[in-house]
Amino acid sequence: MERIAIFPGSFDPFTVGHASVVRRALPLFDKIIIGVGINENKRALFPVEKRVETIRRIYSREPRISVYSYDTLTTDFARKMGARFILRGLRSVRDFEYERDIAEMNSQITGIETVLLFTEHQYACISSSAIRELISYGKDVSEYLPKPDQP
Ligand code: ADP
Repeated sequence: MERIAIFPGSFDPFTVGHASVVRRALPLFDKIIIGVGINENKRALFPVEKRVETIRRIYSREPRISVYSYDTLTTDFARKMGARFILRGLRSVRDFEYERDIAEMNSQITGIETVLLFTEHQYACISSSAIRELISYGKDVSEYLPKPDQP
C-alpha cells in the first residue's frame, strides 16, 4: 500500500519554511499531496488558483508531489486522495497546542495520523502572515519564497 500524505495549509503564500517541511518529509512517503485549503473566513492575499499554480511550478520536476485545492474538511480531502497521513510543521509551542488538538480529533474520528516535523531553526520565524505584511509595505520578499523547479 502506498504511503500517501497530504500537506494541508493556506500557503498564502507558500514559503521556504513550507518547502523545508516538504523536502524533509519526502523520504518518509511515496507521495505528498499539497492541499491548498479554501477558507471563506480567511481573507487571502493570493487567489487560490494562483497559489496552486505557484506551488505546482516549484515542484514541476518532482513527480511524487502534486498540488490541489480543496474546500472540504481536511480529513475528507485526505480520504478522497487515499492518504493515511497528514503532514504539518511545528515552529512553536503555539503551533504545538493547535496541532495537538486537531491531530487527536482527526485520529480518533478517522484513523488518519498526523506527522509533525519541527521547523529548521533558520526558518522558525518565517510565516505567511509576516510575508503578507512585508508585501503590503512594498518590501522584496523573494528570499522567503522558493524558486520554481528548485525547492
Ligand atoms: P494554516 O493556515 O493551515 O496554518 P499555513 O499555510 O500557515 O496553514 O501552514 C501550513 C503548515 O506549515 C502548518 O503546519 C504550519 O505550522 C507549517 N509551517 C508554516 N511555516 C512554517 C515554517 N517556517 N517552518 C515549519 N513549518 C511551517
